Amino acid sequence: MKGSNKPYAVRHDEQLDDLMEDYRDEQAEAEGEDTQPLRLFKLPLGAVEKRIPKAAMAPQAEGAASRATNAPDGEYFERLEEQGIRLNTAQIKAVRHHNGPLLTLAGAGSGKTSVLVCRTGYLLAVRQAEASSILLMTFSTKAAAEMRERIAQLPGIGGMAAKRIEARTFHSFFLYMLRRNGVREEIFGETIRQHILLKQFMREAGISDSQQPETLLALLSSYKMNLVDPAELPEKSEAERKTKEVLLRYEAWKRENGKLDFDDILLVAYEMLKERPGLLRSLQQRFRYVMVDEFQDTNFLQYELVKMIVEPHRNLMVVGDDDQTIYSFNGARSEFILDFEKTYPGAKVITLDINYRSTSAIVGLGNAIIRHNKKRRDKTLKATKQSETVPQYMTPFNTNDEAVRALRYIQQEVAEDRRTYGDFAILYRANSNNRAIIEQLLEQDVPFVEFGDGKLLYEQRIVRPVIDHMRLALYRRDFEAMESVLPTLYIAREKGMTFIRQQDALRAKKGPLIHLLSWPELKEFQKEKVKERLLLIKSLVAMKPVDAIVQLRRSFYDNYLETAEKQNVTQHKEMLVEMLDELETSAGRFDTLEAFLGFIDDMLEKSGEHARQKHEDNGNYVTLMTIHRSKGLEFPVVLLLGASEGSLPHSSSLDPERMKDSQLHLQGAVAQLGDDALEEERRLAYVAVTRAKEELVISSPAQYRRKKTAVSRFLLAAFGSAETAKTAAKEFKRGGALSGVRVAPSSMSGGVRAAQEGRKETVAAWLCKRPGCKAWMRVTTAEDAARSTKACPLCGKPMEKGTREVPAG
Ligand code: ATP
Ligand code: MG
Repeated sequence: MKGSNKPYAVRHDEQLDDLMEDYRDEQAEAEGEDTQPLRLFKLPLGAVEKRIPKAAMAPQAEGAASRATNAPDGEYFERLEEQGIRLNTAQIKAVRHHNGPLLTLAGAGSGKTSVLVCRTGYLLAVRQAEASSILLMTFSTKAAAEMRERIAQLPGIGGMAAKRIEARTFHSFFLYMLRRNGVREEIFGETIRQHILLKQFMREAGISDSQQPETLLALLSSYKMNLVDPAELPEKSEAERKTKEVLLRYEAWKRENGKLDFDDILLVAYEMLKERPGLLRSLQQRFRYVMVDEFQDTNFLQYELVKMIVEPHRNLMVVGDDDQTIYSFNGARSEFILDFEKTYPGAKVITLDINYRSTSAIVGLGNAIIRHNKKRRDKTLKATKQSETVPQYMTPFNTNDEAVRALRYIQQEVAEDRRTYGDFAILYRANSNNRAIIEQLLEQDVPFVEFGDGKLLYEQRIVRPVIDHMRLALYRRDFEAMESVLPTLYIAREKGMTFIRQQDALRAKKGPLIHLLSWPELKEFQKEKVKERLLLIKSLVAMKPVDAIVQLRRSFYDNYLETAEKQNVTQHKEMLVEMLDELETSAGRFDTLEAFLGFIDDMLEKSGEHARQKHEDNGNYVTLMTIHRSKGLEFPVVLLLGASEGSLPHSSSLDPERMKDSQLHLQGAVAQLGDDALEEERRLAYVAVTRAKEELVISSPAQYRRKKTAVSRFLLAAFGSAETAKTAAKEFKRGGALSGVRVAPSSMSGGVRAAQEGRKETVAAWLCKRPGCKAWMRVTTAEDAARSTKACPLCGKPMEKGTREVPAG
């Protein structure tokens, strides 16, 4: 199962400048052929430094420090060791901690969760604590389940005792408490429903054009999670007054209809504990030991609740990593970590800086990525596992190509018996990034479990109308497709369909949508719109699917999404656009509507079948999830997809203007502008990289959303100067650039230039001749040197051969 010594041809090539061209040739040759050896590289495309970052190894002694046989608790640690858990000195200190507050601050994979689990075992086995006196708060249901499992396997802990330990998420723990205390309200947790309701109130207040429901809900949530009454929302301007009115109405609606949303669970619990000192006291007496995992992502109210429970005894142990705060849009406040000792004077602080999860090259890459964040506690993780392999990189053309390559990698590893499917996790920034990879998995019948909404892109409500227009172009009597077209004409779905069906029963038409023209309920201008649409649909027949989508978007759909008041699904605009761009990327592979629609139907069928099979049963499946969901988890092999500008960092964090509508400033609860947003994106990259135990493959498509883009600045910065990364970002905004292309140093800051003014050497290079374009590329191969010209990857104009001075080495 080890990943060394790969028989497939991994080309560890440091001459990267010509990579894109090579890829293009390769793809032309390999049309329809999937035996092509997969090429992975030791450096990301565009790396300036050619050195692979590796973390320093932790001193050997650390690993053996847990031998404390003579101590009264020696037996416990010995038995842990028998299970392969050989704790180091700092970890043992944390595990032995008995009373009082303790903060364990540590980097990724340094055993924070392990320490919580082992301490739980220690309390039970050595301190003879009651299982029911331990409360462990985790972040996700999956994490809670894993923790319970790990506790049950500890030495000397019976299954029964493990069951009596409360290891839960905040929401599940407090919901349970509410239910036991007579709260019967239904949970109103589905985002779509919340949006529909809020949108209705927004329409009635006349603000549905200017605001997004998710923005308002986030505003409301940040008030509530900071214990500020929404009645205190500002009302200085008319807009503020209306916003407030809508939000208060939303709150009142929930109350009147007996519903609680997730925030309400915590809030009602808080109020209940304030009002019922007896209840609080019973919790305080019962839970003598409280522990919180992923403390960096705790919000104000969650922290308040914990503080109340531990108040009399202060037996609170928290573990966290400020570099892994990835929920600040949900109100997570990493400063709680930094202020812990102020809140709990005399608190013990233990730092763990040895990573036990990953090989030194993976830890090294994590270190190299995260050190560029400014707002952080400085720490550099050491490693315990020597690297047999190093992280590998690829730069496929686009997401389709990426998926094919990723799957080929997985299949090869499994075919050669080095890995099983269960070893792989595929991570990505947003759910909309998984379209191509899911298609590949379905097509190749590879078992996988996606931890998301389980819907294909083609099933998303925002995407369906576009596909249905194409369906109608080919199959004019597709009534189902007609149904989803109606709302885009601002015609009520049910009423419209009833009319069409009635008319068609009387006088069947080849294209029943035309009946709308005789509907008395429609005004003249609406009939005009219907006519236009019929013509548009007809014109699609002869188009390539991608052109048809572009045409539909351009003529009305983008506009419709932007303004549609009656639109039910409202998500962040950026995400909507992203889904449609992804639809275009998918369509780009097909020449006819028929082929594309046939493919979609095939995928829908396969996905339906897939949903019916239960891969969870034997555990041998590829895991797919967003980076957010992967927090705290680990996998032997991680494939990180979409590590390109625009995707990671996500485009929404690159353009503060576009993010304006989702920005809230409230007591520092949600401050996600500019650098803050970028720092959070970098933490996401860090979390993704540090999930891998043995192998890591990072893919940076050269095209994202059908535009050229560069390798993620986070990778480039890890392999060179921050300036390179900045250039890449600028190019992305300008419409994209290929990495591997250099930009002349006149655009560099003085400091960087000065740093580079050491030893120099002269190299052969292609120089762009267009005035103003500063691109150049090194001439690296003999074939390259033999060419007389070459197109500039930045501006497309011809490049000429010349020379350049570059830093030596
Ligand atoms: P994250 O930051 O991702 O939440 P973490 O700090 O919680 O990570 P764990 O998940 O507890 O880290 O541990 C990472 C891996 O290292 C696990 O596989 C765990 O079993 C292993 N591990 C932790 N401590 C030790 C140790 N002292 N010796 C050997 N393995 C260890
Ligand atoms: Mg953890």
